[in-house]
Amino acid sequence: MCGPGLRLEQRPVTKRRVLLGLIPNPAKGVGLERARLIAAGALAVVAMLAFGLIMTLPERVDVSPTALSVARLDEFAADAPACRAALAANGFETAAVPDVDGAGRCGYTGAVELTRAAHSFSEPMVSSCALAAGLALWERDVVDAAAARHLHQRVARIELAGETYTCRPVAGRRDRRLSEHAFANAVDIRGFTLEDGRVITVAQGWRGRREDRAFLRAVRDGACRHFQAVLSPDYNRAHRDHLHFDLGRDKMCR
Ligand SMILES: [Zn+2]
Repeated sequence: MCGPGLRLEQRPVTKRRVLLGLIPNPAKGVGLERARLIAAGALAVVAMLAFGLIMTLPERVDVSPTALSVARLDEFAADAPACRAALAANGFETAAVPDVDGAGRCGYTGAVELTRAAHSFSEPMVSSCALAAGLALWERDVVDAAAARHLHQRVARIELAGETYTCRPVAGRRDRRLSEHAFANAVDIRGFTLEDGRVITVAQGWRGRREDRAFLRAVRDGACRHFQAVLSPDYNRAHRDHLHFDLGRDKMCR
């Protein structure tokens, strides 16, 4: 009844037959599998460690004295001459303005007027040098790219909403805390004049044409990389007609 093949299958697993390689060693198979699992696990751990290391490495920052970057804005806040040197080395022009000793804690020292940037301004852009540097970088890196993408043209002029320096509390807050405007450390932008002469205002454009809405949100969102607080009509009614950028302590992007 039993054929020769069947008899072969029934032979016991002997050490000699395993050594001869006639049948696989079951114990060796389990060991190999375990070794493979350990190796894969070790590889995964090494990969995770390497990824973690890459993620925690500081971003490579140009530290030359003339470098103009968002990473240096903190340094510029404490060192106006370094700020002005970096702006000048990168094609932006500033003029020193007299210090102001305002009422109470209001006032500023070491402020500048940004006299040449990527666009002109509707009125003198007087602010702390760090804020001027942030604005110059935002104009260069964000505004024209957003205008090209959403409006298919360039911005000709930035429409400021009044003087950047005003000795007053934060608009729309009850605690009377002084605004960064009281230290010339904030700027309000009410709109943009395009190269074809059209003006996009925050008041009209925020809920206006689709491309205007997209452009205004793009320049608002882009500003969040450059400034501490970026406030738009999304924040409160006090900001329904302008974008507010400052380099104060509070990080906000709305
Ligand atoms: Zn403001």
